[in-house]
Amino acid sequence: MQNNSKMKVLYISGFERSGSTIVNRVLGQIDGFVAWGELRDIWLHGIVENRICSCGHLFTDCLVWQQVFNEAFNGINKFKVLEMIELQKLTRSMVLPHYFGLIKDKSFKKKVGQYLTNLEKLYQAIQVTTNSKVIVDSTKASWYGYILSLLPSIDLYVIHLVRNPKGICYSLEQRKLKGELECQWYNPLHASLSWNLKNYAVEMLLNSSSKRYLRISYENFIQNPQMIVEHILNFLDEKATNLPFIDSSTVKMSTDHIIAGSPSSRSDIGTVKLSLDEKWQQSMRKLDQALISISTFPIAKKYY
Ligand SMILES: [Zn+2]
Repeated sequence: MQNNSKMKVLYISGFERSGSTIVNRVLGQIDGFVAWGELRDIWLHGIVENRICSCGHLFTDCLVWQQVFNEAFNGINKFKVLEMIELQKLTRSMVLPHYFGLIKDKSFKKKVGQYLTNLEKLYQAIQVTTNSKVIVDSTKASWYGYILSLLPSIDLYVIHLVRNPKGICYSLEQRKLKGELECQWYNPLHASLSWNLKNYAVEMLLNSSSKRYLRISYENFIQNPQMIVEHILNFLDEKATNLPFIDSSTVKMSTDHIIAGSPSSRSDIGTVKLSLDEKWQQSMRKLDQALISISTFPIAKKYY
């Protein structure tokens, strides 16, 4: 298959709370791009839990997702979602052994081939029903990006989104204090070690010579969104005449259909001002800042 007959998928990888939902949404406003958040979680959060789509409808009532599932699987109700979720768990557990050559391709495909086939059907249906050139997926997990890189119909481009771990840690703490979500990473040391591990995993699984990989900083994106978007378009070898910027920091957002992604930024529509939240510099304990600096230094020195 020629590259130009494949689907272009732009995969945003990285650690939690790295700002992927806002980056995903800005990219989704470009003509020919569709960006509906973290597609890995569509099975559980969409079909099983029937969460509210960012368009305001329940997942099963969202006409756009109905169209996608009609195209891919003859409807949402007919799809055997529990089997898919079990397959997803199995696939995840097999990624590292496959990467290290401990499981051969043939055996891997025999065990999780149906998962791979269903993913291809999902992405193909999104492309067909939206008539898009680029599908953006902000799932972030390195194992899932690795799986996408194995799909023959996908031409994968990886963005490694990196955010200052102090900003992430502060954001996790605030989220926990608000009771927004139970977060297991509010502890600064745990957050730092997870940040190291997950960024390292992205580099290991998604930054090989055979893969297209671009690292961007969240802080740089928020401060220079148009410049970074143009950089991403070059990376994708795509051109766009009408970028969605009103001025250097304001974006015009339309309704998307996001089921999984940061609740604080997935539903904003109209004129949205991008601004960097640097409150951690004043409000975070100096001891915590020092702990994060020291424990993330081996990885962070490459990024900052
Ligand atoms: Zn929707």
